Amino acid sequence: MSAGAYVAIMLAVIAVCTLVSVPPLFFRKCLRCGTRNFIEARNCRSCETPLPHDTA
Ligand SMILES: [Zn+2]
Repeated sequence: MSAGAYVAIMLAVIAVCTLVSVPPLFFRKCLRCGTRNFIEARNCRSCETPLPHDTA
């Protein structure tokens, strides 16, 4: 394996790890049941608890 391919694979792995480790950017976690809801959701899709919003 060439060094260029190795670097490309490592960058891809780092990118995937970054996306996986920052789900709060894409999902809003319910404080009561822990269900991940989409960022647009106003209420939890599982328990209907109102979700906190940063922008009122
Ligand atoms: Zn919930």
